[in-house]
Amino acid sequence: MTPLPALPPFALRARLLSPLADGGFLDEPDGLLEVDAAGRLTRVGPWDEASSASAIDLRPMVLMPGMVDLHAHLPQIPNAGLGSGLDLLTWLDRYIFPLERAYDRSVAERQAPAAFGAFAAAGTTTVVTYAALWPDSTDAAFAAAEKHGIRAVIGKVMMDRLTYDTDIDPGEILETSLRQSDELATRWHGAAGGRLHYAFTPRFAISCTEEMLRESALLAAHHGAYWQTHVSEDVGEIGEVGRLFPEARDYLDVYDRIGALGARSILAHGVHLSDREVARLVESDSRVAHCPASNLFLSSGMMPLGAYRAAGMTIGLGSDVAAGPEVSIFSVMRAGAVTQRALEVTGRGDRAHGLRPLDWIRLGSLDGARVLGMDSVIGSLEVGKEADVLAVDPRFTNPLPTDDPPSTADDIASRLVFRPHPNMVRGAWVRGRLLDRG
Ligand SMILES: [Zn+2]
Repeated sequence: MTPLPALPPFALRARLLSPLADGGFLDEPDGLLEVDAAGRLTRVGPWDEASSASAIDLRPMVLMPGMVDLHAHLPQIPNAGLGSGLDLLTWLDRYIFPLERAYDRSVAERQAPAAFGAFAAAGTTTVVTYAALWPDSTDAAFAAAEKHGIRAVIGKVMMDRLTYDTDIDPGEILETSLRQSDELATRWHGAAGGRLHYAFTPRFAISCTEEMLRESALLAAHHGAYWQTHVSEDVGEIGEVGRLFPEARDYLDVYDRIGALGARSILAHGVHLSDREVARLVESDSRVAHCPASNLFLSSGMMPLGAYRAAGMTIGLGSDVAAGPEVSIFSVMRAGAVTQRALEVTGRGDRAHGLRPLDWIRLGSLDGARVLGMDSVIGSLEVGKEADVLAVDPRFTNPLPTDDPPSTADDIASRLVFRPHPNMVRGAWVRGRLLDRG
């Protein structure tokens, strides 16, 4: 294989495939992509001999924007694919909390670089992830992301109810968790020239008191950081939230009442939202991470994505490893597409809202960047944006290795969504710097 450039500046000749900010799609079968020394895209268009003699020829590879994973759990990755058939709350107790409890600094120092490598190898150039409860291992995860080069939003998990920290004095949890999170945000939010961001991370309503939710949202606003949590993932969970917060109208209202909704709030799942909750999410400009592979793995449910999109929700994709069995956003697209088909055939989905393969590529890239408010910086191959780029070899998605790749953008995208291959992403760059694959 042709060696890929490790650092900018460089120029590549390949097929270019990208969603565009104006709603269209770029498909340049013989294209040229130029990245300047600062890691920005300076040329995205047709190849021509006169101006691009030094371009590295990667044909028949396809250059695409890097994928954005809006929801993952770093400490859980070693147990990905385990515990199928359990419901959410049982699965958390049996497979997840023991791993998170053990995720101290030394574990994070060992695992986080490998985890970021795995994300890069799967084509994810921006990852939004929960760490564990422990501030020092969250700090180590940030340090690993800084060194690796991936774009990351990370937060220390906050729980002041049902916590797996059995040593802490219950009377001190709230203040300690807020102070530790505040210190991490001060250190890391905006670090690495704006490549790293902090997300205040109350786990979900079941494991947080109203005070924890409110104070964490205030701190997020103070720092201009993100605020992330889970909402309406599982029917059992929703029932428990109703019991714990009897004064709230519904699950979303628990977060709304304490002032946590808004454009910097990323809510994972939202599988079972009522019409009122959907309308309120849209009205408050809150953001949603759709995690269909996870929702199928834990039998949580099937999100009516078409209806949510038609309502105007700002939504992108999340792997939710380890409830999602794979880190690849392309695998998430496949699970999402299958989910929408299942809704259609059971009469719960509207074919008119159906997504084409190129729409799934947009959801995984530019729409994910929009969720983060980063769509003017990343998410598509457009001049002026930072060079978060993938080189994908579509031959890996062929049914037979002897075949040529499909010739149209629709068919290439269809294969990427429905036949993603673990080796198809040959390189991933952030700001023009080639990421280590672990
Ligand atoms: Zn999650």
